[in-house]
Amino acid sequence: MSIAQRLNQIRSRIEEAAAEAGRDPRTVRLVAVSKTRPPEDVVAACRAGQVIFGENYVQELTAKAAGIPEPLEWHFIGHLQSNKAKYLAGLVTLVHSVDRLSLAEEISRHWGRLGRCCDVLVQVNIAGEASKSGTTETGALQLVRDIALLPNVRVRGLMTMPPFFDDPEAARPYFAELKRLSDLIAGEAVPGVEMKELSMGMSGDFEAAIQEGATLVRVGTAIFGER
Ligand SMILES: *Cc1c(COP(=O)(O)O)cnc(C)c1O
Repeated sequence: MSIAQRLNQIRSRIEEAAAEAGRDPRTVRLVAVSKTRPPEDVVAACRAGQVIFGENYVQELTAKAAGIPEPLEWHFIGHLQSNKAKYLAGLVTLVHSVDRLSLAEEISRHWGRLGRCCDVLVQVNIAGEASKSGTTETGALQLVRDIALLPNVRVRGLMTMPPFFDDPEAARPYFAELKRLSDLIAGEAVPGVEMKELSMGMSGDFEAAIQEGATLVRVGTAIFGER
């Protein structure tokens, strides 16, 4: 199956999952995760109407972006070292993976130099796995408050990566928990913070994530094939 055909399938599945949850499918955006994939695959997806692409590695992203003339939107979704934030300034429209204040400070500094503001999501390690990035659930609100004081960063929501399960239903409680945390933080009405995005769900479990409130699903394998 071609990338265009797979994309169409994913779009239908997103629409069905949204409909099942009584949600407007337009409130769910698809991030095509193109890590390890060549620029040609990104171009193919672009031509099939895909707009947002997610990458995990700074060097890979900058090299790939330079070789792709199509207009598209890059999101950074991987673990980000603070000293690499400068390479993303002006290139990405959303950083999904802000998990500490020092990183947000670097992002603010570099976007500030461009006279711009960077939209970010706070990554939360809901399951508390040692192998995963993300702030703790109990630390999330304070981190949001601290980031909100920075001049050139705007918190737009939360992101999580639950433990890996074969059964998507097993991930559902983590999605529900992220939604609960997001509502709780929204209730605090921190100035400058808008809790409108929930980035959760990947190839194996995006439907469950949509049913639990995802607004951004990050899908790689199901579009581009096995890495
Ligand atoms: C690789 C990756 C994805 C996509 O995973 P698939 O299972 O290939 O859909 C989503 N989110 C993050 C943070 C990733 O690193």
